[in-house]
Amino acid sequence: MIVSEAFAGKRYAVLGLARSGLATVETLVASGARVVAWDSREEARALVEGKAELGDPMEIDLSGFDGIVVSPGVPLNRHPIAMRAKIAGVPVIGDIELFALARPTLPPHKVVGITGTNGKSTTTALIHHIIEQAGFPTVMGGNIGLPILSQPPLEPNLHGVGVYVLELSSYQIDLTRSLDCDVAVLLNITPDHLDRYDGFEGYVASKARLFAMQSTEHVAVIAVEDSASRIIASDTAAPLKAVHSRDIDPVAQLTWPALQGPHNAQNAAVAIAVATALDIDPDTIDNALASYASLPHRMQAVGTHNGVLYVNDSKATNAASTAPALAAWPAKDGKPRIHWILGGVAKSDNLDECVPHFGNIAHAYTIGEAGHMFADLLRPHMAVDDSEMLSAAVRRAARIAQPGDVVLLSPACASFDQFRDFEARGDAFAAAVAALGSTGD
Ligand code: ADP
Repeated sequence: MIVSEAFAGKRYAVLGLARSGLATVETLVASGARVVAWDSREEARALVEGKAELGDPMEIDLSGFDGIVVSPGVPLNRHPIAMRAKIAGVPVIGDIELFALARPTLPPHKVVGITGTNGKSTTTALIHHIIEQAGFPTVMGGNIGLPILSQPPLEPNLHGVGVYVLELSSYQIDLTRSLDCDVAVLLNITPDHLDRYDGFEGYVASKARLFAMQSTEHVAVIAVEDSASRIIASDTAAPLKAVHSRDIDPVAQLTWPALQGPHNAQNAAVAIAVATALDIDPDTIDNALASYASLPHRMQAVGTHNGVLYVNDSKATNAASTAPALAAWPAKDGKPRIHWILGGVAKSDNLDECVPHFGNIAHAYTIGEAGHMFADLLRPHMAVDDSEMLSAAVRRAARIAQPGDVVLLSPACASFDQFRDFEARGDAFAAAVAALGSTGD
């Protein structure tokens, strides 16, 4: 856990006691701060009893507080805490800002901060892997599901100083004011989360702040493959390293098993630029790209049955992140090979980003809330089974798919209509695939 004298004697309110909120309370209390904590769920409040005072920041007097630490799940554009804090003159921040405030008291280190609409977790894990292979002390944190404050502080070793690799969602950036990343990274920007922003421009402005916080002696790495990313690239404070998927040699990419497909060329191009900015040598980078293992639920092969490969890409929750998965298995000898399972809670009423790859799809299987709508949309272009349930979709695909084909769960939708989260959806897919094996279906 990170403990810092920066918080000694300070007063903070913490709103939202899920993973990062709990880690925040632990760090602040251990650092000698006074903490008032709150969550609307009683079970969550019980977890901090004895450590922090309980009190709802919507009700207590906020004067004299040094900050209100809110979870990135709190929609600041609608939640009344934003106005209440403003009136009291107290900054609303997140755990990443606390980490930024603690930095001057930590042993010498570097920070890589990664944002973008899609590919953040993959690129964060890949950069972390390359740094680890180079021998530097390193940890990952942030949106990847590991609160940064609960990670051990990094001590320099023989190779150099430690590197914190942070995956940053736009919500986390909104709650951060002073994170000056040694290397700040932007992968791509496509419309997403528009319910939380003042249109697409508000979302882009949120990503741009990661670069606005950088000082000029640091480095900005930006994949300049969409117009919003290019606009941010034209205005970075720090020197820019602009990258492109086409920087990646397709023959070299074939030797990186967990980084297939055009989207992973973008992720790899970015990771190589970051590693180079950290002075890691090309051979180490190359070997690390080859030894990288994919994260669960992202283009993860979960089994083969009767010569058909089953791939779990449950993390693809919008059409832009599904598109590269559909591009990863081109038609062979004019015959499409992908059996595409999609559906759930739709982010839009079209699948425009996926259209260029429709020729790779042998058959689609729709599930969940958006299932009927997508079935109607796809029928003019391909064979469609309106399967409704994921397990039915897997069973039907298994009946129809031929050896050499791929059954791909890449839903282009959120999961909340039928599953707790995208992980539960991916696990259900893997279980349905495992069940095929045992029944010989
Ligand atoms: P994030 O953490 O930003 O949600 P992940 O690395 O978890 O991103 O990948 C989410 C989904 O997006 C996966 O389904 C993956 O296939 C797809 N994806 C990964 N990298 C990219 C990229 N650079 N561009 C577009 N889609 C991507």
